[in-house]
Amino acid sequence: MMINKAPRPSLDQVATARQIALFLDYDGTLAEFALTPDQIDPKPEVIALLTRLSHCPQLHVNVVSGRRLAHIQALLPVPNILLAGTYGLEMQLPDGRQFSRAELEAIQPALERLKPQWKQLLVDRAGFYLEDKVWALAIHARYAEENEAQFVLGKAHDIALDVISLDQFRWLTGHRFCEVSPLWANKGITVKNLISDYAAPDLLSIYVGDDGMDEEAFAIVKAQGGLTILVADRPRATQADYRLDSPAQVGHWLNQLAAQLEAAAQQT
Ligand SMILES: [Mg+2]
Repeated sequence: MMINKAPRPSLDQVATARQIALFLDYDGTLAEFALTPDQIDPKPEVIALLTRLSHCPQLHVNVVSGRRLAHIQALLPVPNILLAGTYGLEMQLPDGRQFSRAELEAIQPALERLKPQWKQLLVDRAGFYLEDKVWALAIHARYAEENEAQFVLGKAHDIALDVISLDQFRWLTGHRFCEVSPLWANKGITVKNLISDYAAPDLLSIYVGDDGMDEEAFAIVKAQGGLTILVADRPRATQADYRLDSPAQVGHWLNQLAAQLEAAAQQT
């Protein structure tokens, strides 16, 4: 991994592309983080931006989030874009059809055994948040005290490995975060499948994301010669080639992209 100091991505490469698959994370990328991950607070400017992008004929718009699909649907009521929830385990296609890549009945028993044990671990502790994603279970420790966060996330790991099978589930960690989710919950696999579904030899892929789960997708998009953009307010180790400082900058860059594609579409 390289420390990413690169400037904002140039639009030159994008201007000449005939078909583009645009992959966007949601929290920390299109919108600032919500106070809790269960908060659903649709952002009019993000909805307007994605609606604008959805009208560009060269563009396939995909939102790939760790949130539940139902949340992403509520946050982005935009037709003709693809919404991938739980890292791509559950999807809504641009025409509105929905499907999931695993059987909920096969997933839930283990999560139902794990949940009360994790709940017990968090009793009387401040700054932690247990997120039940139905398909997955996560602990957020963003607002917890540092040492306690490390202790609890370590304990959560030990408990989880007693309850789940790694043939069926993945153990995910991030900054002050851990999660148990099915194997299909993988942005890298999701993006790889979507790129091959588009089946366009001259497809340019662009991926914009801000956290560890996005790194799996950066690797895939990079291997295909695509554009990888990290959202971070300072340089850090990443697979991504470019960096934008904040969701506001992402919005600005994507609006510029839309303007360029609109102009190109008018010329043809
Ligand atoms: Mg994110």
